[in-house]
Amino acid sequence: MGKLDGRVVIVTGAARGQGEQEARLFAAEGARVVVADVLDDQGEALAKELGALYVHLDVREESGWQAAVAAAQKAYGRIDGLVNNAGILRFNTLLDTPLDEFMQVVQVNQVGCFLGIRTVAPHIADAGGGTIVNTASYTGVTGMAAVGAYAASKHAIVGLTRVAALELARKKIRVNAMCPGAIDTAMSNPALLDPNADVDAESSARGLERMYRKLVPLGRIGRPDEVARLALFLTSEDSSYITGQPFVIDGGWLAGVSVV
Ligand code: NAD
Repeated sequence: MGKLDGRVVIVTGAARGQGEQEARLFAAEGARVVVADVLDDQGEALAKELGALYVHLDVREESGWQAAVAAAQKAYGRIDGLVNNAGILRFNTLLDTPLDEFMQVVQVNQVGCFLGIRTVAPHIADAGGGTIVNTASYTGVTGMAAVGAYAASKHAIVGLTRVAALELARKKIRVNAMCPGAIDTAMSNPALLDPNADVDAESSARGLERMYRKLVPLGRIGRPDEVARLALFLTSEDSSYITGQPFVIDGGWLAGVSVV
Protein backbone atom coordinates (compact mmCIF):
# COMPACT_ATOMS: atom_id res chain seq x y z
CA MET A 1 0.00 0.00 0.00
CA GLY A 2 1.30 3.43 -0.96
CA LYS A 3 0.67 6.47 1.23
CA LEU A 4 -1.11 8.24 -1.62
CA ASP A 5 -2.90 5.33 -3.30
CA GLY A 6 -5.70 6.55 -5.55
CA ARG A 7 -5.05 10.26 -4.95
CA VAL A 8 -4.62 12.80 -7.73
CA VAL A 9 -2.08 15.51 -6.91
CA ILE A 10 -0.95 18.53 -8.95
CA VAL A 11 2.67 19.59 -8.39
CA THR A 12 3.70 22.94 -9.91
CA GLY A 13 7.27 23.61 -11.00
CA ALA A 14 7.67 19.83 -11.17
CA ALA A 15 10.00 19.58 -14.18
CA ARG A 16 13.13 19.78 -12.00
CA GLY A 17 14.49 20.32 -8.49
CA GLN A 18 12.25 19.82 -5.47
CA GLY A 19 9.08 19.57 -7.56
CA GLU A 20 10.59 16.76 -9.62
CA GLN A 21 11.49 14.82 -6.46
CA GLU A 22 7.98 15.40 -5.09
CA ALA A 23 6.44 14.08 -8.34
CA ARG A 24 8.72 11.01 -8.23
CA LEU A 25 8.01 10.22 -4.58
CA PHE A 26 4.26 10.81 -4.88
CA ALA A 27 4.06 8.52 -7.93
CA ALA A 28 6.05 5.85 -6.06
CA GLU A 29 3.51 6.16 -3.22
CA GLY A 30 0.60 5.46 -5.57
CA ALA A 31 -0.55 8.96 -6.55
CA ARG A 32 -1.61 9.93 -10.02
CA VAL A 33 0.55 13.01 -10.47
CA VAL A 34 -0.07 16.06 -12.62
CA VAL A 35 3.35 17.47 -13.49
CA ALA A 36 2.90 21.20 -14.16
CA ASP A 37 5.64 23.55 -15.35
CA VAL A 38 6.74 25.99 -18.05
CA LEU A 39 9.73 23.74 -18.93
CA ASP A 40 7.80 21.58 -21.39
CA ASP A 41 10.56 19.23 -22.59
CA GLN A 42 11.75 18.32 -19.08
CA GLY A 43 8.21 18.15 -17.70
CA GLU A 44 6.95 15.93 -20.51
CA ALA A 45 9.93 13.57 -20.21
CA LEU A 46 9.38 13.22 -16.46
CA ALA A 47 5.64 12.65 -16.85
CA LYS A 48 6.29 10.00 -19.49
CA GLU A 49 8.76 8.22 -17.21
CA LEU A 50 6.32 8.27 -14.27
CA GLY A 51 3.18 7.48 -16.27
CA ALA A 52 1.92 10.89 -15.11
CA LEU A 53 0.11 13.72 -16.90
CA TYR A 54 2.08 16.79 -18.02
CA VAL A 55 0.40 20.17 -18.28
CA HIS A 56 2.01 23.41 -19.40
CA LEU A 57 1.19 25.81 -16.58
CA ASP A 58 2.54 29.29 -16.01
CA VAL A 59 1.35 29.79 -12.43
CA ARG A 60 0.92 33.53 -13.00
CA GLU A 61 -1.90 32.92 -15.51
CA GLU A 62 -5.49 32.46 -14.32
CA SER A 63 -6.48 30.84 -17.63
CA GLY A 64 -3.53 28.42 -17.35
CA TRP A 65 -4.83 27.22 -13.98
CA GLN A 66 -8.32 26.68 -15.44
CA ALA A 67 -6.82 24.64 -18.29
CA ALA A 68 -4.67 22.61 -15.88
CA VAL A 69 -7.58 21.59 -13.63
CA ALA A 70 -9.69 20.79 -16.72
CA ALA A 71 -6.92 18.51 -18.03
CA ALA A 72 -6.54 16.83 -14.62
CA GLN A 73 -10.30 16.26 -14.34
CA LYS A 74 -10.45 14.91 -17.88
CA ALA A 75 -7.59 12.47 -17.26
CA TYR A 76 -8.40 11.36 -13.71
CA GLY A 77 -11.92 12.60 -12.82
CA ARG A 78 -10.88 14.16 -9.50
CA ILE A 79 -8.23 16.27 -7.75
CA ASP A 80 -7.21 15.50 -4.15
CA GLY A 81 -4.11 17.56 -3.62
CA LEU A 82 -1.93 20.44 -4.74
CA VAL A 83 1.70 21.27 -4.08
CA ASN A 84 2.41 24.90 -4.93
CA ASN A 85 6.13 24.49 -5.57
CA ALA A 86 6.94 26.75 -8.55
CA GLY A 87 9.12 29.68 -7.59
CA ILE A 88 11.87 32.05 -8.68
CA LEU A 89 14.66 33.86 -6.82
CA ARG A 90 16.33 37.17 -7.66
CA PHE A 91 19.30 38.61 -5.77
CA ASN A 92 19.35 42.35 -5.15
CA THR A 93 19.45 44.83 -2.30
CA LEU A 94 16.10 46.52 -1.72
CA LEU A 95 17.41 49.92 -2.78
CA ASP A 96 18.64 48.49 -6.08
CA THR A 97 15.57 46.37 -6.87
CA PRO A 98 13.65 47.68 -9.90
CA LEU A 99 9.87 47.54 -9.53
CA ASP A 100 9.66 45.13 -12.49
CA GLU A 101 11.95 42.66 -10.75
CA PHE A 102 10.02 42.89 -7.48
CA MET A 103 6.72 42.32 -9.31
CA GLN A 104 8.15 39.40 -11.30
CA VAL A 105 9.00 37.58 -8.06
CA VAL A 106 5.64 38.42 -6.47
CA GLN A 107 3.75 37.28 -9.58
CA VAL A 108 5.33 33.82 -9.66
CA ASN A 109 5.77 33.07 -5.95
CA GLN A 110 2.85 34.83 -4.31
CA VAL A 111 0.18 35.35 -6.99
CA GLY A 112 0.91 31.86 -8.39
CA CYS A 113 0.28 30.35 -4.97
CA PHE A 114 -2.93 32.38 -4.47
CA LEU A 115 -4.28 31.38 -7.89
CA GLY A 116 -3.43 27.75 -7.19
CA ILE A 117 -5.34 27.73 -3.91
CA ARG A 118 -8.30 29.59 -5.39
CA THR A 119 -8.58 27.45 -8.52
CA VAL A 120 -7.87 24.00 -7.13
CA ALA A 121 -9.52 24.09 -3.67
CA PRO A 122 -13.12 23.78 -5.02
CA HIS A 123 -12.09 20.64 -6.93
CA ILE A 124 -10.46 19.15 -3.82
CA ALA A 125 -13.63 19.95 -1.88
CA ASP A 126 -15.72 18.17 -4.55
CA ALA A 127 -13.51 15.11 -4.10
CA GLY A 128 -14.43 15.07 -0.38
CA GLY A 129 -11.38 16.92 0.94
CA GLY A 130 -7.61 16.72 0.67
CA THR A 131 -4.45 18.77 1.06
CA ILE A 132 -2.62 21.84 -0.17
CA VAL A 133 1.10 22.28 0.51
CA ASN A 134 2.64 25.67 -0.24
CA THR A 135 6.38 26.03 -0.69
CA ALA A 136 7.51 29.06 1.28
CA SER A 137 11.11 29.26 2.50
CA TYR A 138 13.39 29.80 5.45
CA THR A 139 13.14 33.42 4.27
CA GLY A 140 9.38 33.21 4.83
CA VAL A 141 9.99 33.20 8.57
CA THR A 142 13.17 35.28 8.92
CA GLY A 143 15.10 37.90 6.98
CA MET A 144 18.05 37.49 4.63
CA ALA A 145 19.95 40.36 3.01
CA ALA A 146 19.85 40.67 -0.80
CA VAL A 147 16.63 38.68 -1.30
CA GLY A 148 14.02 41.29 -0.30
CA ALA A 149 11.43 40.58 -3.02
CA TYR A 150 11.79 36.83 -2.52
CA ALA A 151 11.56 37.03 1.29
CA ALA A 152 8.49 39.30 1.05
CA SER A 153 6.76 36.86 -1.31
CA LYS A 154 7.63 33.87 0.91
CA HIS A 155 6.37 35.62 4.07
CA ALA A 156 3.15 36.24 2.12
CA ILE A 157 2.89 32.52 1.36
CA VAL A 158 3.01 31.73 5.08
CA GLY A 159 0.18 34.24 5.62
CA LEU A 160 -1.86 32.80 2.75
CA THR A 161 -1.35 29.33 4.18
CA ARG A 162 -2.75 30.29 7.58
CA VAL A 163 -5.80 32.05 6.12
CA ALA A 164 -6.48 29.23 3.65
CA ALA A 165 -6.26 26.67 6.48
CA LEU A 166 -8.88 28.59 8.47
CA GLU A 167 -11.21 29.09 5.52
CA LEU A 168 -10.92 25.61 4.03
CA ALA A 169 -10.97 23.42 7.16
CA ARG A 170 -14.75 23.00 6.96
CA LYS A 171 -14.31 21.70 3.41
CA LYS A 172 -11.91 19.10 4.84
CA ILE A 173 -8.91 20.66 3.13
CA ARG A 174 -5.72 20.92 5.19
CA VAL A 175 -3.25 23.62 4.15
CA ASN A 176 0.37 23.74 5.32
CA ALA A 177 3.61 25.39 4.23
CA MET A 178 7.17 24.11 3.88
CA CYS A 179 10.03 26.48 4.71
CA PRO A 180 13.21 24.96 3.27
CA GLY A 181 16.63 26.41 4.09
CA ALA A 182 19.32 25.95 1.45
CA ILE A 183 18.49 23.04 -0.85
CA ASP A 184 20.79 21.69 -3.55
CA THR A 185 18.96 22.62 -6.77
CA ALA A 186 19.46 24.92 -9.73
CA MET A 187 17.99 27.73 -7.63
CA SER A 188 20.83 27.61 -5.10
CA ASN A 189 23.50 26.92 -7.75
CA PRO A 190 22.40 28.50 -11.06
CA ALA A 191 25.78 27.58 -12.60
CA LEU A 192 24.38 24.03 -12.83
CA LEU A 193 22.08 25.27 -15.61
CA ASP A 194 24.41 27.49 -17.57
CA PRO A 195 27.45 25.93 -19.20
CA ASN A 196 28.62 29.44 -20.14
CA ALA A 197 28.43 30.83 -16.61
CA ASP A 198 31.48 32.73 -15.31
CA VAL A 199 31.77 30.25 -12.45
CA ASP A 200 31.71 26.55 -13.29
CA ALA A 201 29.09 24.46 -11.54
CA GLU A 202 31.54 22.25 -9.66
CA SER A 203 33.65 24.99 -8.14
CA SER A 204 30.50 26.90 -7.31
CA ALA A 205 29.12 23.76 -5.60
CA ARG A 206 32.38 23.41 -3.63
CA GLY A 207 32.14 27.07 -2.53
CA LEU A 208 28.54 26.60 -1.45
CA GLU A 209 29.46 23.41 0.40
CA ARG A 210 32.13 25.27 2.40
CA MET A 211 29.69 28.04 3.19
CA TYR A 212 26.90 25.73 4.37
CA ARG A 213 29.32 23.63 6.43
CA LYS A 214 29.91 26.78 8.50
CA LEU A 215 26.39 28.24 8.46
CA VAL A 216 24.17 25.20 8.95
CA PRO A 217 24.34 23.25 12.24
CA LEU A 218 23.95 19.91 10.41
CA GLY A 219 26.92 20.99 8.30
CA ARG A 220 25.56 20.60 4.78
CA ILE A 221 23.08 21.82 2.20
CA GLY A 222 19.72 19.98 2.07
CA ARG A 223 18.69 17.56 -0.67
CA PRO A 224 15.50 17.96 -2.72
CA ASP A 225 14.41 14.41 -1.82
CA GLU A 226 14.43 15.44 1.87
CA VAL A 227 11.96 18.22 1.12
CA ALA A 228 9.88 15.77 -0.96
CA ARG A 229 9.53 13.55 2.11
CA LEU A 230 8.13 16.50 4.09
CA ALA A 231 5.72 17.21 1.22
CA LEU A 232 4.64 13.56 1.32
CA PHE A 233 4.04 13.75 5.08
CA LEU A 234 1.89 16.88 4.66
CA THR A 235 -0.02 15.38 1.70
CA SER A 236 -0.70 11.99 3.30
CA GLU A 237 -2.86 10.87 6.22
CA ASP A 238 0.26 10.84 8.41
CA SER A 239 -0.43 14.54 9.03
CA SER A 240 -4.21 14.15 9.43
CA TYR A 241 -4.53 16.54 12.41
CA ILE A 242 -2.14 19.24 11.15
CA THR A 243 -3.22 22.37 9.29
CA GLY A 244 -2.19 26.02 9.01
CA GLN A 245 1.47 25.47 9.94
CA PRO A 246 4.81 26.47 8.42
CA PHE A 247 7.34 23.59 8.64
CA VAL A 248 10.98 24.64 8.65
CA ILE A 249 13.37 22.13 7.02
CA ASP A 250 16.80 23.72 7.18
CA GLY A 251 19.37 21.55 9.00
CA GLY A 252 18.98 23.73 12.09
CA TRP A 253 19.90 27.04 10.43
CA LEU A 254 17.00 28.92 12.03
CA ALA A 255 17.72 27.54 15.51
CA GLY A 256 20.07 30.41 16.27
CA VAL A 257 23.66 31.52 16.07
CA SER A 258 26.29 29.11 17.29
CA VAL A 259 29.22 30.61 19.24
CA VAL A 260 30.99 27.33 19.94
P1 NAD B 1 14.29 25.15 -9.32
O1 NAD B 1 14.65 26.45 -9.92
O2 NAD B 1 15.08 23.95 -9.69
O3 NAD B 1 12.75 24.78 -9.58
C1 NAD B 1 11.76 25.75 -9.75
C2 NAD B 1 10.75 25.21 -10.75
O4 NAD B 1 9.68 26.19 -10.87
C3 NAD B 1 11.36 25.04 -12.15
O5 NAD B 1 10.99 23.79 -12.70
C4 NAD B 1 10.75 26.20 -12.94
O6 NAD B 1 10.60 25.95 -14.33
C5 NAD B 1 9.40 26.35 -12.25
N1 NAD B 1 8.81 27.67 -12.51
C6 NAD B 1 9.41 28.89 -12.46
N2 NAD B 1 8.55 29.85 -12.84
C7 NAD B 1 7.37 29.22 -13.12
C8 NAD B 1 6.10 29.67 -13.56
N3 NAD B 1 5.86 30.98 -13.79
N4 NAD B 1 5.12 28.76 -13.74
C9 NAD B 1 5.35 27.43 -13.52
N5 NAD B 1 6.53 26.94 -13.13
C10 NAD B 1 7.54 27.84 -12.93
O7 NAD B 1 14.39 25.40 -7.73
P2 NAD B 1 13.83 24.56 -6.48
O8 NAD B 1 14.81 24.70 -5.40
O9 NAD B 1 13.41 23.21 -6.87
O10 NAD B 1 12.55 25.44 -6.08
C11 NAD B 1 11.31 24.87 -5.70
C12 NAD B 1 10.64 25.75 -4.67
O11 NAD B 1 11.40 25.73 -3.45
C13 NAD B 1 10.53 27.24 -5.04
O12 NAD B 1 9.28 27.74 -4.63
C14 NAD B 1 11.64 27.88 -4.24
O13 NAD B 1 11.40 29.24 -4.00
C15 NAD B 1 11.60 27.05 -3.00
N6 NAD B 1 12.82 27.09 -2.18
C16 NAD B 1 14.03 26.73 -2.70
C17 NAD B 1 15.17 26.74 -1.89
C18 NAD B 1 16.54 26.33 -2.40
O14 NAD B 1 17.53 26.58 -1.70
N7 NAD B 1 16.65 25.69 -3.54
C19 NAD B 1 15.05 27.15 -0.55
C20 NAD B 1 13.80 27.51 -0.06
C21 NAD B 1 12.68 27.48 -0.88
